[in-house]
Amino acid sequence: MTPAGVAGPSQMDRMDVHIHLTRWWPDLARTGYRPRIDYTVRGLLAEMDAAGISTALLLPVFEAPSPADALRESVEQSRASMGRLRPVATVFPGPGKKSVQAVVATWEEVPELAAIKLFPGYHPFYPHDPALEPAYEYAARRHLPVMIHQGDTLTPNGLLKYARPIEVDEVAVSHRDVRFVLCHLGNPWVEEAAELVYKNENVYADTSGLLPHPSAPYFLRAVDRARALVQGAVETIGSASRILYGSDWPLESLHTAVELVERLTLHGRDREAILGGNARRLYAPAPPVGRPS
Ligand SMILES: [Zn+2]
Repeated sequence: MTPAGVAGPSQMDRMDVHIHLTRWWPDLARTGYRPRIDYTVRGLLAEMDAAGISTALLLPVFEAPSPADALRESVEQSRASMGRLRPVATVFPGPGKKSVQAVVATWEEVPELAAIKLFPGYHPFYPHDPALEPAYEYAARRHLPVMIHQGDTLTPNGLLKYARPIEVDEVAVSHRDVRFVLCHLGNPWVEEAAELVYKNENVYADTSGLLPHPSAPYFLRAVDRARALVQGAVETIGSASRILYGSDWPLESLHTAVELVERLTLHGRDREAILGGNARRLYAPAPPVGRPS
């Protein structure tokens, strides 16, 4: 076994599926895991190199003025990183189906788009809101996973009832051709999230954002508890093939988030599968449509 934090042979195949790098939420860097984070593309890539992570997904934040602004920023960062950072789009169903359709149409101009992220809880809607249908249909057509915020919100104004795993079950069943990712393992509803992954082959979960700030008096115990939650989820599901490593950087350090997975008790190659192999398959770019080979 490779000791935690020491490079293994496949270390650079790691992929972080949950990272935020945005000018729309400056407080995010200030509340990050340490006081001075180099909160730039270059700073993030340096930290990824140190943690053996080759690729990461740039998730939008709901504070951006519009979904288009959020996506434009991620695309710029992605290009600046030579594709190591991959953009993720968002959309809100609040303004109605027509507005969702208009946002979805703009995604057509972004061939490098890696996924779609929804923010129930931060915004008052359920994942089964009918206005989201155009987004799910688009995700199915382009094979884009739909990542759904779950559980605790950073702001006390969030409404948790919208962010429970059970609320994803209906769309997981009605859209079998869409792969869904439950962010933060549904925390605090981790058993509920694990049950959804167990029951639905098109549902995955990420390990991001399970830790409090390192200054919390019980931080080390909290790391143990988070590891037990991920371990329990793997055992409930009976497999590690749909668990994805994510950090929620800059809220967690990449090193600490990787170490959490490295210290799980897992069979064979499951550790590296969680740290990258599963995500590489899930977020693989769709083959070009309509081109005879
Ligand atoms: Zn996040």
